[in-house]
Amino acid sequence: MNFETDIVIGLEIHVGLNTKSKLFCSCPNAKSDEPNVNVCPVCLGHPGSRPTMNKEVLFSAIKLAKALNFSIAPRLIFSRKTYFYPDLVKNFQITQFEEPIGSEGFIIINDRKIGLERVHIEEDPGALIHKSDSVLMDYNRSGTPLCEIVTKPELTSAKEAREFIKKLLVLIDYINIFDQDNGIVKADLNISIKETNYRRVEIKGVSGLKDIENALNYEISRQQENPNEVVQETRGYDSENRITFTQRSKEDAEDYGYIYEPDLVPRDITEDMVSFATSTMPVMVDERINNYVEKGMKYEDAQIITSIKDVSDLFERSVSLGIEFDFAMKFFKRDIISRINDKQIEYSRLKNETFEKEIVALLKLFSERKINNLSVKNILDKLSTEDIDVVKYANDNKLIIETNIDLESVCKEMIAKSEQAVLDYRSGKENALNFIVGQVMKVMKGAVMPDDVKNKIKEILG
Ligand SMILES: [Zn+2]
Repeated sequence: MNFETDIVIGLEIHVGLNTKSKLFCSCPNAKSDEPNVNVCPVCLGHPGSRPTMNKEVLFSAIKLAKALNFSIAPRLIFSRKTYFYPDLVKNFQITQFEEPIGSEGFIIINDRKIGLERVHIEEDPGALIHKSDSVLMDYNRSGTPLCEIVTKPELTSAKEAREFIKKLLVLIDYINIFDQDNGIVKADLNISIKETNYRRVEIKGVSGLKDIENALNYEISRQQENPNEVVQETRGYDSENRITFTQRSKEDAEDYGYIYEPDLVPRDITEDMVSFATSTMPVMVDERINNYVEKGMKYEDAQIITSIKDVSDLFERSVSLGIEFDFAMKFFKRDIISRINDKQIEYSRLKNETFEKEIVALLKLFSERKINNLSVKNILDKLSTEDIDVVKYANDNKLIIETNIDLESVCKEMIAKSEQAVLDYRSGKENALNFIVGQVMKVMKGAVMPDDVKNKIKEILG
């Protein structure tokens, strides 16, 4: 292959689907603290057991293929990938090889189109649990559904790879096929550089955005430092020491002895199936960004607001209920997105109806200047984990700004008690006022706007 860039990166990303049951049996597709409870003869590979395709997986995969601009195959067909490993009970994995469900897609990041080779459906093997003197097997994960997305070797840096996966996660969030709170994104990374004549090195099974970026950075420097020593191989990643290490030389596809899966009859993927699956797809992220920018939002802000679908939905709902566009943008950007990033609000909380309703109520109080910034923060802290009635809570805790209070006399009282601050202010230190404002806010317990207090104090001091 001819490459134009010095560094060439391709990714194979595994996305675990959030369907109710496993790929080929009716066992729950759920995490469990107890090992080997979500199992049956099919996912344990007992002789004579037969897989049955879970339609929900098919519909999720079609949505994913559409969201990533893939062409969808006319039929669904599975193959057996044969290899031995203790976590693989049947000695083969059911996957798609010859005909993936989607081919030739793309994702746009920062105006650059990154090509995607294919997306296919496959089952996850079980999990090995390493103890100090033994290895235990847990087959709860055996047969859970995955989609694997394979990019073209078109990424050119670790940072770009990270941005790519971030965008992929946003797209996946929009179609709701992945558990954002508990799901894990795992990737195999292919890296080659000009100095080795693009000899291909693969790093297997790296989880999480940070580790993926770190593994790529380490591997790129390792290859650049000693290009002559780089061999074609499969490496692992040690996230504790942030290094990659040799695992084995690469198998070729023929080593797996792929055959068509005889227990699953190929079936047509009809137009009706595709339109049924895609009928529930929302307006996607790139289109929303364009809409917001057209209405005057900055591109960067639009990117932030649309980075989580539920936030973007709530933003749109607030605006439709009369909250001013720019005011709502600032609120969701500053108060909501940051809380989600800090994990103070879980993704699942955003889907809670009470939360949605009360956020709008909070925003309304705030935009009508009935509560101040500090109260917004206090109420949000509460609402992040508890179903509260925002208006009642604000009233009960005396957070509603009182319009008929005698602000002047409270200000005068606090000015009298703050001699030093008054002296400082008079000698030109504008900031000294903040001390008096703070004292007034303390007495009024949040039922006033800081700006109003400041103006009143200035007025009194003349
Ligand atoms: Zn099962």
